[in-house]
Amino acid sequence: MTTRHDTPDIFALSEIHGPVLRPGDPAYADEVTGFNLAALHTPDVVVGATGPDDIVTAMRWAKATDTPVAVQATGHGANFPIEKGLLINTARMTDVRIDPATRTATIAAGAKWSHVMAAAAPHGLAGLSGTSTDAGVIGYTLGGGLPVLGRAYGYAADLVRSFQVVTPDGRLRETDPQHEPELFWALRGGKGNVGVVTSLVTELLPLPRLYGGGIYCPGEHTEALLQAWADWTRTVPDEMCSAFTILRLPPIPQIPEPLRGGFWARVAIAWPGLPAEGEALIAPLREAAPVAVDTVEVMDHAALDRIHMEPQDPLPGRESCLLLRDLPPDAIRAFLDQAGPAAGVDFPLLMVEIRHMGGAMSRPSAVEDAVCARDALYFIDSVGIMAAPPAAEAIEQATQQLYTAMAPYGTGRTMVNIHGTPGDEQDRARAWTPEVYERLRHDKAVYDPTNLLRYGHAVTPA
Ligand SMILES: Cc1cc2nc3c(=O)[nH]c(=O)nc-3n(C[C@H](O)[C@H](O)[C@H](O)COP(=O)(O)OP(=O)(O)OC[C@H]3O[C@@H](n4cnc5c(N)ncnc54)[C@H](O)[C@@H]3O)c2cc1C
Repeated sequence: MTTRHDTPDIFALSEIHGPVLRPGDPAYADEVTGFNLAALHTPDVVVGATGPDDIVTAMRWAKATDTPVAVQATGHGANFPIEKGLLINTARMTDVRIDPATRTATIAAGAKWSHVMAAAAPHGLAGLSGTSTDAGVIGYTLGGGLPVLGRAYGYAADLVRSFQVVTPDGRLRETDPQHEPELFWALRGGKGNVGVVTSLVTELLPLPRLYGGGIYCPGEHTEALLQAWADWTRTVPDEMCSAFTILRLPPIPQIPEPLRGGFWARVAIAWPGLPAEGEALIAPLREAAPVAVDTVEVMDHAALDRIHMEPQDPLPGRESCLLLRDLPPDAIRAFLDQAGPAAGVDFPLLMVEIRHMGGAMSRPSAVEDAVCARDALYFIDSVGIMAAPPAAEAIEQATQQLYTAMAPYGTGRTMVNIHGTPGDEQDRARAWTPEVYERLRHDKAVYDPTNLLRYGHAVTPA
C-alpha cells in the first residue's frame, strides 16, 4: 500500500538552502549515515539544514503533511533506524561563538564538543564534554549530558542558559528560565521530545588544563584494581572524577600499541585541581596492581579524548547502561563474574565500565531540569561492536546477562543518552523517574500533540 509518506511532496521544501534528498539520490547515503553504523536510516526525505530557517521550513512542511521527524547531528546516538518520514541533518550547522566576558558559548545545532573546545581554549575556557569530543553538543546536552568532569561540575544540562528551538508547530522560539520555563525544563534532560534545537547558550568553565589519563593493568589484575578503585572512590573529594573499565580491544591499527589487541583493566582519571594534589590522590591506584601503561598527566582540556580513548571512527555499536545506587561487595562480585577474567578473553563486549557518580551530580541544578540521575552513586555502561551474527547474538546475550546480574544494585533507571536501542514505552520510560516521565508526557501533549517527533527515545503524549 502506498501512503503519502512514501511520496512526500518535497517541492514544498524548495526554500531550503541545503540539500533535500530522497532514496536513490547519489548523496543520500552519505547524508543519512552517522557515527553509529548499527542503525541504517532510510527516511523518505533527508534535509541538510544550513541554519534555523531551514529547520523552520522543514518543520512547517512536516506539520502540514503530518510527516514524522527525526534529527541527526553526528549519529553518535543512532541506535535505532529511521525508516520513514523526514530526517533533518544538522551537521552543517557548526558555528560556535565564545563570549569571554560572560564565559558563555552560543553553539549551533550541529557543533561537536571538539568545535567548542577549539573555540574556547584560546580564552582558557572549556565546556562539560562527555568522554568523546566527537559527539554533538545539542543531542548530548538534551539528554542531560554526563560529563567526564561531572562529579566536579554537575550535568551539562545544568549549565545551559537558553535554547533557540523550533517546536513542532513550526515556530522558532527562544526559551530560558524566564521565557517558556516549562519548555526550558523539558529540553534539559528530556531529549529531543519537544522541538528541534537550532542553538543553545551554555556556561563555560575557566579550565585550560586538567590532570587526567588512564592507568592500565593487564586484565588478569582486574579484581585487584577494581577492588582498590571501589574502596578509593569512597574516600576521594567531589572534584575527583574517575571510571573503572574492562577493555577487550581488537587488534586494529586505530588502537595504539601496546594496548592494541589486549585485555585490560583501566581506571580513567580526570582531576581539575592542582596536579600535585591529583597525583597524591591517585597514588593508591598506581600501587594496587602492576601498571602496564600510565597516561595520567597534565593535559590541555581540549585533549580530553585521551582520558577515555573512545573510538573516533564510525562503528556499529550496541550500548546499554544502568544507574547504580551503590557498589557493595556483592555488586563487585556480580560484575566480575559477568565481565571479568572469568568471562574469558572471548567475552563479546568491547568495554564494560563503572563510572563514579555523586559529587556535584547529586546536587540539584540551580534551575530545575529533567535530569533524573542525581540519586546514583555509580553508573554501569557497556558497548559491543555488532559484527555479523553470531557476534551480534553473543553481544545481545552478554548484555542481557550483565544487566540482569547488576539489576539488584540498580535504581531501575538508565540515562537516556546511553540507554541504547529504545524498546517499548515501558523500556523508554526507564530513563526518567515516573514523576518526570509524566511531566514530560504533558509537555509533549502541549508542544507536540500529534507526536511528530516520535522516533527513538520518544515520550508518548499525555
Ligand atoms: C563514543 C561515545 C561516547 C559517549 N560518551 C558520552 C558521555 O560521556 N556522556 C553522555 O551523556 N553521553 C555520551 N554518549 C552518548 C551521546 O551523548 C548521545 O549519543 C547523544 O545523543 C549524542 O548526540 P549527537 O547529536 O552527537 O548524536 P545524534 O545521533 O546525531 O543525535 C542523537 C539524538 O539527539 C537528539 N538531537 C540531536 N540534535 C538535536 C536537535 N538539534 N534538536 C533536537 N534533538 C536533537 C535526537 O533525539 C537524536 O536522535 C557517548 C556516545 C558515544 C558514541
